[in-house]
Amino acid sequence: MKDNIHRYIEGLLPPREGLVVEMEQYAAEHQVPIMEPVGMDTLLSMLKLQKPERLLEIGTAIGYSALRMAEAVPHLQITTLERDEDRYKKALHYINQSKQQNRIRVLFGDALELEEKVSKDGPFDAIFIDAAKGQYRRFFELYAPMLKKGGVIYSDNVLFKGYAAGIDAPTKRLEKMVQKITNYNEWLMAHPDYDTAIIPSGDGIAVSIKRSEEK
Ligand code: SAH
Ligand code: MG
Repeated sequence: MKDNIHRYIEGLLPPREGLVVEMEQYAAEHQVPIMEPVGMDTLLSMLKLQKPERLLEIGTAIGYSALRMAEAVPHLQITTLERDEDRYKKALHYINQSKQQNRIRVLFGDALELEEKVSKDGPFDAIFIDAAKGQYRRFFELYAPMLKKGGVIYSDNVLFKGYAAGIDAPTKRLEKMVQKITNYNEWLMAHPDYDTAIIPSGDGIAVSIKRSEEK
């Protein structure tokens, strides 16, 4: 979704510094799909408004978004999950060099199998889903019970380069992925226990607020 508006906003963002820049360069060189600057900035603003104390992230990659969130939100404790061993190690490497190492716990393994370990760190005020796009609903259903009432689930990449909104996907494999995302979006928007808005920033971020009372 690199339209003119996006490029304009990206150009206005202040330059990042230090370790974060190093991580952005590593991600670009090794094709690690970290959050893009405008989407990251939007997510950080929402977190600054929400002021969560405990956040679960599904999809650490090299720890970029975890570090940015920890730096942006005072006192935030993050538990983050990654199943790729090289990325997990890289995340530890970067986080241990940062000033936020006591606030970020990285767990290695498939998010669909880490429920027990994760539950020890909950309940959570926020959950950030940014992992395998085909499994968003499963992640959501598995971890939503650990989210406090009034808590927020943020889902990244829900517009998937605009394909979700009808831009033709170039391959059959991508088409299938798009179908999974649009199914997720429809399910999410209709979920009776959550109020959801989709923000067309970055690659699309869904913001789902857990209702205090059942409908
Ligand atoms: N949030 C990161 C980017 C995450 S990229 C950032 O913005 O900096 C998505 C990551 O999710 C990949 O590294 C991938 O290995 C991981 N992933 C995908 N499916 C997963 C699963 N089921 N369990 C744990 N990690 C998963
Ligand atoms: Mg993402």
